[in-house]
Amino acid sequence: MATTAAVPDLDRLRPAGTKRSSKRDLIVNVFLKQEGHLSADDLVALIKRADHRISRATVYRTLQWMVDAGIARKVDFGEGRFRFEHSYRHPRHFHLICKTCNRSYEFLSSDIEALVEEVAAARAFTARQSVVQIYGTCDACSTGRVTQDEGSNSELLFARDALRIAIATERSGLEFYARGARLVKDPRGRQIFHKLATEEKSHLSTLEGRYQDLLKQDPQLESRPTFLFFKGAAHGLFAAGADQLRRDGVDDLEALRIGIRCERGSHRFFKRYGERFEDSEGKRIFLEFADEEREHLELLIREYRALVKRQRATGHKAAASSKRARAGGRVKPGARARSAQR
Ligand SMILES: [Zn+2]
Ligand SMILES: [Zn+2]
Repeated sequence: MATTAAVPDLDRLRPAGTKRSSKRDLIVNVFLKQEGHLSADDLVALIKRADHRISRATVYRTLQWMVDAGIARKVDFGEGRFRFEHSYRHPRHFHLICKTCNRSYEFLSSDIEALVEEVAAARAFTARQSVVQIYGTCDACSTGRVTQDEGSNSELLFARDALRIAIATERSGLEFYARGARLVKDPRGRQIFHKLATEEKSHLSTLEGRYQDLLKQDPQLESRPTFLFFKGAAHGLFAAGADQLRRDGVDDLEALRIGIRCERGSHRFFKRYGERFEDSEGKRIFLEFADEEREHLELLIREYRALVKRQRATGHKAAASSKRARAGGRVKPGARARSAQR
């Protein structure tokens, strides 16, 4: 259902000066409705069923056009022929390929991507594309168990996992601010932690509502295999932050600083990955979440600065009064009157 709706604006994609082609539109539409990885011949067979007058050459030409236009991605599973997957609202991913049934399974891992980037940077290599393919035997082939892969839609899986990550982060953020509110002594600082805890709570229920809506699109969605593997995800930041709050000697300023560190890390994480993904619900979830985290970050920084100023002012006052006390009767009456006027 979600894939049928996910049809890009073909008029926008059409190269300048080329005519609208109903044949091409038909081929593109049939192709976009497919999940998984098709060979050119698979697509020819599907098209022939829809309209037998369309030639093999037209299908091949259109496939190449889709690759050039960024609608399709060419993948090579080492079978001696290419396969094609649609890239519209379909995040870039890695593959597990079963050599028994020839099926392939998709996944995405921020940790693998980070490692690849690290290696490329260390070797001063400009990476354009990385392909990770793991060959072996799938669960269904090795155990005979029925898996929930059949009919799964990677855009939905991506949105599901993006929401799960955002929800986990929101939960640990809530825990962090609730603990902070109990700990912070400065009344205004405490108010801020309270406010953020309340905000996290309301965001959390919005995200959970969205998650329930998503589940309505596919009754099996909950039980389908994980698509996004994000080991170093942002919810770990807040959990570590909450632990730091528990330590002795954490004063109000330090508590705010810990909050700033968590929010900054979380904002960066969601923004970095959100920007990397192709247009999709999962991308939107990440970028919206990144914006929320930025707002929290800015709020905390403002509060931190205000608290530093307040402490400085009270510090000055205290210093000034102790100076006066120390000076005692040596202060001239005129000077005392002037300082009282201030
Ligand atoms: Zn298999
Ligand atoms: Zn794929």
